[in-house]
Amino acid sequence: MAMPLVQSCSVDLHKSLATKRILRTHLRFLEVEQPHLRLLNLPSCYSTPKLKAWKGPMTLTKEVVDEKEMSAVTESESNEFTTLKHRFLNFKKDKYLKNLEHFRSLADEQSPKFLVISCADSRVCPSNILGFQPGEAFVVRNIANLVPPYETGPSETKAALEFSVNTLKVKNILVIGHSRCGGIRALMSMDNETGSSFIRNWVIVGKSARATTKAVASNLSFDQQCKHCEKESVNGSLMNLLTYPWIKDKVNKGELLIHGGYYDFVDCSFEKWTLENNTRVDDQVSIRNREFWS
Ligand SMILES: [Zn+2]
Repeated sequence: MAMPLVQSCSVDLHKSLATKRILRTHLRFLEVEQPHLRLLNLPSCYSTPKLKAWKGPMTLTKEVVDEKEMSAVTESESNEFTTLKHRFLNFKKDKYLKNLEHFRSLADEQSPKFLVISCADSRVCPSNILGFQPGEAFVVRNIANLVPPYETGPSETKAALEFSVNTLKVKNILVIGHSRCGGIRALMSMDNETGSSFIRNWVIVGKSARATTKAVASNLSFDQQCKHCEKESVNGSLMNLLTYPWIKDKVNKGELLIHGGYYDFVDCSFEKWTLENNTRVDDQVSIRNREFWS
C-alpha cells in the first residue's frame, strides 16, 4: 500500500520499485491533466495535495475541485497584490523618483515633527486624512488610540513614545480619536460582558473615560454615549501622556506640545485642540486653540 510510505518524509520512498512505479504513474497523470501543477516544486517531503492525488481517480477528482478553489483564492490574492504593486510603482515614479534628494536624506535619518497616535481602524489612516508624507510623522496605531499611563507594564505604544520623544525629539504629540470606534464600543460594553480577551484587557486602559461618560451622559443613547467616550478617551490619553516624566518635563519647558484630535468620518469633519502647558496630572483637562475643520 503506497499511502503510508508517501505520507512520511522519513520513509524511504525508493525502497520499493512498485511504489516508485505508482508514484511515477500518478505524477505523469497529474502533469497531463493539471498542467499548472508543474509550476509547483516537488519538495523532498511531498506536498499534501499531491499525496491526496495519488490515492486514485476519485480522490484526484476532489483534488481537482480543491485546486480550482485554491486557484480562485490565489487569483483573488494575486489581484489584490497586483493593485498594491501598481500603487507602489506609481508611488516610486510619481513621488520617490521626483523627490530623490528628499528620499535619500530620509534614508540617512528621520526627524518627524509629529508623533501621531491613532486607532488601527482601517478607515482612519492619519497619513491618508491629514496628508502626512514620509518622514513627517512617527505613527502609532492601536485599538481605540489609547495611551496607557506610565506606571503600567511595557507596551509597544510606550516604546514608541520613548523613542519618538527622547530620540527623535518630536515637537508635537497628536492623539486622534474617531467616530464609530469599535474599541470604544467594546470599552463601553464591558459592564455587560464577562471573561477575558486581548481586546478587553487593552481597552480597559480607557476605563476613566468610560466612568466619566457614564457619569455625565447616562441619559443619552448608547451610540451617543460611545461618541462622548470617543472624545473623552482622547483627553484621558492626553492626561496619561503627562504621567511620563520625560514628556511632562518637555511640556513644562515648552519643548513639546500635546494635541487632541477627533475625526468624524460620518460627516467628514476634524476637531483639533491643544493641551494647556500648565495642565497638571489629576487636574481637569485644560485646552486651547480648539479648531473645527469641515
Ligand atoms: Zn477605533
